[in-house]
Amino acid sequence: MTAPTLILPERSRAVASDLRAAIGAHKVKDDYSTLTAYAVDASIYRMEPKAVVLVESEEDIAATVRYAVERGIPLTPRAAGTNLTGSAIGSGIILDVSRLNRILEVNREEHWARIQPGIVLAELNRQLGRQGLLFGPDPSSGDMCKLGGMLANNSSGPHTLRYGAVKDNVAALRVCLQSGDWLDAKAYGLDDPVCTNLLKAHRPLHDLRSLLQDHAALIAQKRPTVSKNSCGYNLFGLADGIARGCFDLPKLFVGSEGTLGLFSEATIRLVEKPCATLTALIHFHRLEDVGDAVPKLLELSPSALEVMDANTLNLIGRAKHGIPSDAAATLLVELDGDVVGSDLRAQAERMIDISRRYRLASDPVIAFDPEQREQLWKARKALYPTLYRFDPKKKPINFVDDVVVPAERISELIRYLEEFFAGQRVPVAIFGHIGNGNAHIIPLLDVNDHDDFQKMVQGYHEIHKTVLSRFGGSICGEHGDGRVRAEYVKTMFGPELYDLFVRVKQSFDPTGVLNPGIKISDRSFTEHIDHVRLSKPCATCAKCNAVCPVYDVFQSEDMSSRGWFEIVTDKNYSYLNSKRVVEACLNCKSCRTACPAGVDVSQLILDRRAENPNEMAGIIFRFHAQTARFEQFLKFLARFQSLWDRPMVRRFLDRLTKPFMHRLAETARLSPQLVLPRLALRHLRDRYPELIPHAGKTAHAPVAYFHGCAANYFDDGVGDAVIAVLRKHGVEPDLPPQRCSGTPIETYGHRALAKEGARVNLASMAGYEKVVTGCASCTLMLKDYPTLFAGEPEQAVAQALAKRVTHISEFVAQSPVKPAMAGSQATKCKVAYHSSCHLRAAGVTKEPRAILAGLPGVDYVEMPDADRCAGGAGTYLVKDFETSQRIVERKRKAVGESGAEVVATSCPACMIQLRTGLQGAAEVKHVAQLIQEAYEAADGQ
Ligand SMILES: Cc1cc2nc3c(=O)[nH]c(=O)nc-3n(C[C@H](O)[C@H](O)[C@H](O)COP(=O)(O)OP(=O)(O)OC[C@H]3O[C@@H](n4cnc5c(N)ncnc54)[C@H](O)[C@@H]3O)c2cc1C
Ligand code: SF4
Ligand code: SF4
Repeated sequence: MTAPTLILPERSRAVASDLRAAIGAHKVKDDYSTLTAYAVDASIYRMEPKAVVLVESEEDIAATVRYAVERGIPLTPRAAGTNLTGSAIGSGIILDVSRLNRILEVNREEHWARIQPGIVLAELNRQLGRQGLLFGPDPSSGDMCKLGGMLANNSSGPHTLRYGAVKDNVAALRVCLQSGDWLDAKAYGLDDPVCTNLLKAHRPLHDLRSLLQDHAALIAQKRPTVSKNSCGYNLFGLADGIARGCFDLPKLFVGSEGTLGLFSEATIRLVEKPCATLTALIHFHRLEDVGDAVPKLLELSPSALEVMDANTLNLIGRAKHGIPSDAAATLLVELDGDVVGSDLRAQAERMIDISRRYRLASDPVIAFDPEQREQLWKARKALYPTLYRFDPKKKPINFVDDVVVPAERISELIRYLEEFFAGQRVPVAIFGHIGNGNAHIIPLLDVNDHDDFQKMVQGYHEIHKTVLSRFGGSICGEHGDGRVRAEYVKTMFGPELYDLFVRVKQSFDPTGVLNPGIKISDRSFTEHIDHVRLSKPCATCAKCNAVCPVYDVFQSEDMSSRGWFEIVTDKNYSYLNSKRVVEACLNCKSCRTACPAGVDVSQLILDRRAENPNEMAGIIFRFHAQTARFEQFLKFLARFQSLWDRPMVRRFLDRLTKPFMHRLAETARLSPQLVLPRLALRHLRDRYPELIPHAGKTAHAPVAYFHGCAANYFDDGVGDAVIAVLRKHGVEPDLPPQRCSGTPIETYGHRALAKEGARVNLASMAGYEKVVTGCASCTLMLKDYPTLFAGEPEQAVAQALAKRVTHISEFVAQSPVKPAMAGSQATKCKVAYHSSCHLRAAGVTKEPRAILAGLPGVDYVEMPDADRCAGGAGTYLVKDFETSQRIVERKRKAVGESGAEVVATSCPACMIQLRTGLQGAAEVKHVAQLIQEAYEAADGQ
């Protein structure tokens, strides 16, 4: 069945405006940025749509479906766009379900829940986890993929061994059929009158029932014999249902990849969260032993059993992950305990006994501790995008990525593949769910090189053929057929069964508008490959979207980190056609911290802003650079703050400053709700004259305190606390002359001005053994000066400074001096930590937490979303106050959930944002202030 080309050009122009009229203007987009961002998913393909619809209700879905059918326009449902097969991109309308992201109902006793399709798996399990529940299927993309995509792909993951795939965990679906009618797809008893009525009401169901009956023998004969399969339509699951006397409709729709209907809701089955878990790494010296060990390890009923071959270990870096140089393959084994107080030690012993029968490259590594276990999984889950770091040209290409063979033959498969790719001289990573015999095969190729392209085509056919003929396997275990495997579905099942698939598709989608080109299509897998993108460094994996605060709020790909990478690197990009999105980034750097491929989207955006510096910001920052005049002005404002910082006056000021603010950004304003810090009448430098090094002084104190702007100008006690803490550790710091570290300046595109200040700082901080910081953004910016001066004469000095920059929490953690601490009335409370994005990006995550947890009297709680941006981001809360408040909403809930009375952090903008957003629900303090209080309490005793 060929994917139809359905849109006539004169019609296409009207698509978005028609849809706007039908379902509302704010839900439909067709501007350049949106179409560019939605042209990709995590596959190797690119297709630009005509319009994107962000549905918010079942009515929106049905109206869009009806419109697409009536006009013959291809309609592609989309959730997170993390599929690896090209199934969430299309040439017509993209229907994004991300805004339908609520948990509608949870039944704790009966272990089920009704869920909308736009919820992210990690978020779903986080919320279910509060009730001790879990949705079992766990694709490695769980931090970013959404339920809708999981359902449509029949996803599974490492723990499928225990919990099965999605198809095994769905009780019902709400499906919008091509007619625009809604179907409650459940397992109906064949003699249930409801079933009879449904067959009468929906012709496709009637046809399906007859097809199953007429071709039962063929379906039984062609049933895959391996333990996992997501290729083709699941007529086998339906046939099983018929044998049990029911019409098990979810089995048809789960795994149908948006080609038969669209889901607005699913009733999913839940399991109890395990009470204890153990994760182990076993490094084998010989690949052959892995295949032998698997059946023996399976006797321990592991919940996960994963393999990484030698090449994969080389590619991800053995030293970095503590993997022995002579390991031929590594197994990752996980065991769960289901009873409270479960002790998995006995099972761990048995596992070690089994593995010792083989030649191991080192002793097995066993981790009970959640953090250690998370590290092991983190490397495994980020494998595919991490491979993007390997070579600037040769990229990991998913085209034979998901085969399944009998589990006990996995070593044989790996050996075959290693020999095949060695013959082609192509580096390849092979890893996957060995317990199910499901291997992910990711060769590294330059698809823009003719020879490599030919190798890809050859590998596609040869490997798939071998998996079918020699191993009796499946070409698709969990990723779906999409565009990449559609061409091979017929070969997998033979023409007769394929013909049944075509009949099912035609019956449910007679006009062929539902995700054409996907699953049932004879188009070559090489059509629509995105040659340009595959020469870029981004894997389009969407891990950055999962942490991007803007995406979290807007749930739209044009307002996301991955989307912005596409936009700002697109050949048709211009500041004018993309200003809306380029100016929306907070420069929080969360994307950079999360990206396994080493891409820094925030930097690319800063580069684009530097091409169009904001004029108004330039005026402000140039004034700011005239330190003496600027400080006089601030002191003047400080003197009268009690007059102007009143609700009435602030409202007036908000109106008065609008024209200036507007020149900063269309959304900028000085909202009266913004809780401003008290401006200092005497700046920090005025208060500590003894710490200011005299001009011309040659001998330095060993430690400089880079206080930055906020600690100097605000009367919030932060600068005093940092100095007091340093003094407690026997350090009398210098406060050398300093200019703004540069973060806010660069954010508005004034790179030259940022560099001017940076040069002053480089000179001023030279010669100090340590440069202590209290502010998260200053910490990161000083550490980032080598990037700011990349290729310039200052780079070497900048690198030297970067090594010496130490956040106050690192300083305290590393200090050999351990001053006495005590609890006081003020510190005896529940404290949570909000990890400022820039401090996280600077690599400082553990120290503040460890310090807070060790403070006497403090009941430290790790709050949910501690590592998510709070939306302050320097001056973002001025630039776009409304969005910043939408971002902080999630933080407010997290703080409430944790029960914290104090939220500790280390960034002045975060402090302002938290005080504004929490509205007094918890006190906000700098980490240094809490440390100082503990020292003072000890002094007072
Ligand atoms: C790093 C990485 C690791 C991965 N690991 C795994 C893994 O371990 N296991 C695995 O199974 N997959 C894996 N994947 C692939 C992918 O993440 C999963 O298949 C995921 O479940 C897709 O979800 P999504 O929300 O991104 O869906 P999308 O990509 O948006 O869509 C996937 C399919 O679902 C359809 N769809 C979406 N919403 C609906 C709806 N409401 N109604 C009807 N159809 C809909 C789309 O049309 C498309 O056909 C991985 C991907 C990456 C990038
Ligand atoms: S920038 Fe990094 S995290 Fe984001 S999509 Fe690209 S590779 Fe993935
Ligand atoms: S810097 Fe923050 S807001 Fe900007 S793209 Fe990255 S994660 Fe999103």
